Amino acid sequence: MSNPVLETRGLSRDFVQGSETVHVLRGVDLAVGPGEIVALLGPSGSGKSTLLQAVGLLEGGFGGAIRIVGAEAAQLSARERTAMRRDRLGFVYQFHHLLPDFTALENVAMPQLIHGAAPAAATTRATDLLSALGLGHRLAHRPAALSGGEQQRVAVARALANRPALVLADEPTGNLDEATANVVFSELLRLVREEGSAALIATHNERLAARMDRVVRLHEGQLQ
Ligand code: ADP
Ligand code: MG
Repeated sequence: MSNPVLETRGLSRDFVQGSETVHVLRGVDLAVGPGEIVALLGPSGSGKSTLLQAVGLLEGGFGGAIRIVGAEAAQLSARERTAMRRDRLGFVYQFHHLLPDFTALENVAMPQLIHGAAPAAATTRATDLLSALGLGHRLAHRPAALSGGEQQRVAVARALANRPALVLADEPTGNLDEATANVVFSELLRLVREEGSAALIATHNERLAARMDRVVRLHEGQLQ
């Protein structure tokens, strides 16, 4: 694959639990191309979140190598890692993690302002993204006044706000009922495609995985 946005080589992660060492990741080799949407499929406990935390540069303690948009993660300073996370990556979690005291619009504008966008441009972009997700009438609502599906849509808009090269999503609809999950998932895929971002999306749901461009399966700490 030429110029992948994400590449891992021999990625490993052990957890020590009492006298036992659990090898959660045992040499994961993964490449995600520009604009490619990849499903990371595996049952609960197979290491999906651990893998996403590694490539999201959230935690140390990993073996092997991670390259994101051409940069070797191990060679980044703490500051460069923060900038990479803020400017090139977008995150969607199972629980929305929206800021409770801010409106939907402000939650989506915030990462852009931190990135240095002008307030007017950040507001326009946030309005466009939320409208594209059917939330044009919910801009001034705080998260507590939104349904679960609406909260996850805001989280999707926030993840895309800075036009990331790569979206990392960890069971992004895992907390929603099935019907809502299907709708929100469709919107997530549509918007990621429209925006041209690549995505790595963890799920234990075969049907959701089948809707992505490619499926990789975590099995005994390696990809199949
Ligand atoms: P998944 O997201 O696929 O459900 P996880 O990545 O959360 O799987 O967990 C994979 C395995 O790693 C599990 O056995 C889990 O108990 C273990 N694990 C995850 N995080 C930690 C941690 N901080 N300390 C010890 N074990 C952990
Ligand atoms: Mg998980």
